[in-house]
Amino acid sequence: MTKPLVAVQSIEELRARVRAARQAGQRIGCVPTMGALHAGHLSLVEAARRETDFVVLTIFVNPTQFGPNEDFTKYPRPLERDLDLCRSAGVDLVFHPEVGDVYPAPNATYVDVPVVDKVLEGAFRPGHFRGVATIVLKLFNLVLPDAAFFGQKDYQQQLLIKHMVADLNVPVEVRTCPTLRDPDGLAMSSRNVYLSAEERQTALSLSQTLKIAAEMIQRRTAPAEVRAAMKQHLESFAGVKIDYATVADAQTLEEVTELVPQMVALIAARVGTTRLIDNQILTVRAG
Ligand code: AMP
Repeated sequence: MTKPLVAVQSIEELRARVRAARQAGQRIGCVPTMGALHAGHLSLVEAARRETDFVVLTIFVNPTQFGPNEDFTKYPRPLERDLDLCRSAGVDLVFHPEVGDVYPAPNATYVDVPVVDKVLEGAFRPGHFRGVATIVLKLFNLVLPDAAFFGQKDYQQQLLIKHMVADLNVPVEVRTCPTLRDPDGLAMSSRNVYLSAEERQTALSLSQTLKIAAEMIQRRTAPAEVRAAMKQHLESFAGVKIDYATVADAQTLEEVTELVPQMVALIAARVGTTRLIDNQILTVRAG
């Protein structure tokens, strides 16, 4: 039997429902999203359901994390469809506030996480991570979850949130869940709906490139050579414009010059007008 789903817009109602669940002894899980849900989001819900008793999924297209020339206005907002998906996935409560509920006045306070917010995504999207850290902390303060679930798909984001939670003593356990992919390897993303059929084929170049990087690193190829191979593969596709394609330390996100124990390959590229990101953790073959 599907559980009843409650969807609320107001902060007061959210707080009341969560308080009731907590008073009933339930552990609260939170899955922050911008909506336009896909199986990747639902895998976070599954993880939340395994670990917590009352799952709150938030849907909020957060204006402060979009740059002036980004897709804030055209970002898809299929609310009814999202609610249906949440219902079948066993979400207990959807919080989908209006911008005015969350930002009744311009914020005077922001959260900056300088240790990882200047490189890669941060370099190409100035102000993005300040918007992300601020909204995530606001959502944590609104929902007061015991645990929150994020995707590895946004590798830098989950790292940033872990830093913020540790540095500010936020009492939330942060979990990172694996990236869900379509059968052909394309990482699921709400932005994939922008891709034409031809662009979608071209977009496979990202996951293919990560695979090449992973195999090269396994064979202990030097990172500089791996980076060159990644760029070469991506550039062989007409219609791909690289923002970055690199191998970095998995904790600091600094580009590595030699093999270190924990590495990650990260790509951001535009396919047509759609900007896509993807990444893969890299392991070196023992011996
Ligand atoms: P978004 O709605 O794009 O802000 O994403 C909300 C959450 O879902 C973030 O924690 C993302 O990392 C996560 N997510 C997005 N795409 C995927 C995916 N393909 N697999 C797993 N998690 C994902």
